Amino acid sequence: MKIPAMDCDVCGVELAIGVACVPYVPISVAYGIDCLRANAHPYWVLVANTAACDGFEYCDEGWQKMVFDTLNHLNISFEKFTEDVRIEIEEFMKMEQTALMMEGD
Ligand SMILES: [Zn+2]
Repeated sequence: MKIPAMDCDVCGVELAIGVACVPYVPISVAYGIDCLRANAHPYWVLVANTAACDGFEYCDEGWQKMVFDTLNHLNISFEKFTEDVRIEIEEFMKMEQTALMMEGD
């Protein structure tokens, strides 16, 4: 079976060589060889799952290594990452408050 060419979901630059599960997260994405070798994963998945854990400091070492390897590979600062996680946690709390208010009606 011939599989159509896909871009890497991590960097969006190289061609993907296949689809694989992101470690720790029930999501599959297309990886290129450079991102696979670098242990790099989709940025938005790292932000969303780190926020779901209430922050980087609550994540285990394996996850933290994935974050560092990805930021390094994609040339994104740790400061930007923690800020994006903070925003995501805030959004999540707003959604929770809205849900609680609707339950109260
Ligand atoms: Zn890539």
